[in-house]
Amino acid sequence: MKKIVIVGCGNVGMSYAYSMVVSGVNIDQLVLIDINKDRAEGEAMDLSHAMSYAPKTFEIYDGDYADCHDATIVCICAGRNQNVGETRTDLIHKNYEVFKDIIGKINKTGFNGIYLVATNPLDVMTDITYRLSGFSSNKVIGSGTTLDSARLRYLAGQKAGINPKNIHGYVIGEHGDSEFIPWNNVIIGLDKAEKFLSKDEMNEISQEVCLSAYEIIKKKGNTSYGIGMSLLKITNAIINNQNAIISVSAYNKLHDCYFSIPSIICKSGIKKTLYITLTPEDEEKLTKSIEKIKVDKKMINIK
Ligand code: NAD
Repeated sequence: MKKIVIVGCGNVGMSYAYSMVVSGVNIDQLVLIDINKDRAEGEAMDLSHAMSYAPKTFEIYDGDYADCHDATIVCICAGRNQNVGETRTDLIHKNYEVFKDIIGKINKTGFNGIYLVATNPLDVMTDITYRLSGFSSNKVIGSGTTLDSARLRYLAGQKAGINPKNIHGYVIGEHGDSEFIPWNNVIIGLDKAEKFLSKDEMNEISQEVCLSAYEIIKKKGNTSYGIGMSLLKITNAIINNQNAIISVSAYNKLHDCYFSIPSIICKSGIKKTLYITLTPEDEEKLTKSIEKIKVDKKMINIK
């Protein structure tokens, strides 16, 4: 039996849930948990009604932590989101408290599946999940720059007049202000991006990818659909053992922290993190981004 538990039924959790219903994800049960029990119950009722017209039928119900014991994936979307002008790092203390509460309850159930984390600041919250759970690092995955890479593909596709599906490129580093696009590794069709995009266009895309969350939050208060589909992409890779390459936040032993690098995702989680050949300039950007995550991590003093 394939079961997914979502903890945190807000904008992110429910966009992810809705993406699963609409796309007909290959699962048997979807369980919704929230500190606000009425919210979880209402969402489960509403979403269940959509089943009548969905491509695949699975059971949806509001549950409790006990439901995590035989889950394939527990996805954590709980915690505070950014207010206008706030950075992701500003959420760290509050969301650490939320995670201490949640991970302890999940672990007690004997859960042995895969943790998928969406809460910000993403890389540090994934690291916290890894340490609090005691799981092996391949079974604790952060959504990382999966969303940012979707933004890169979309924007590059718009400018080049090419379908984003034919664009292979990844945003790497922190899911946050220090993230960047290693343009040398972006392939459009069969060629490097520079064949289709000018330097100015690449700079514009880099800026927009990095700032779009702020822009969307200013206009609608949160971001939800892009992350919902990004979580679905990672979920399908796990559930269907796809060996898909996705830029998730993965543990790096050398740096002892989580950050995003394209990784192979299969039924056991992160199968392998890929080595990317970077230009000296991009090496420097990655080092700075990792340093930023490490500084953030020190704010909550977790070992
Ligand atoms: P939201 O406020 O809409 O939802 C959060 C939910 O968490 C609420 O329903 C709340 O009741 C619940 N919650 C809070 N404490 C809880 C606890 N202890 N146990 C169980 N449930 C609890 O927020 P949102 O917009 O859905 O954002 C959620 C998180 O996702 C934020 O940290 C946000 O920054 C992050 N986010 C990440 C990405 C990404 O790319 N990874 C994208 C967008 C948002």
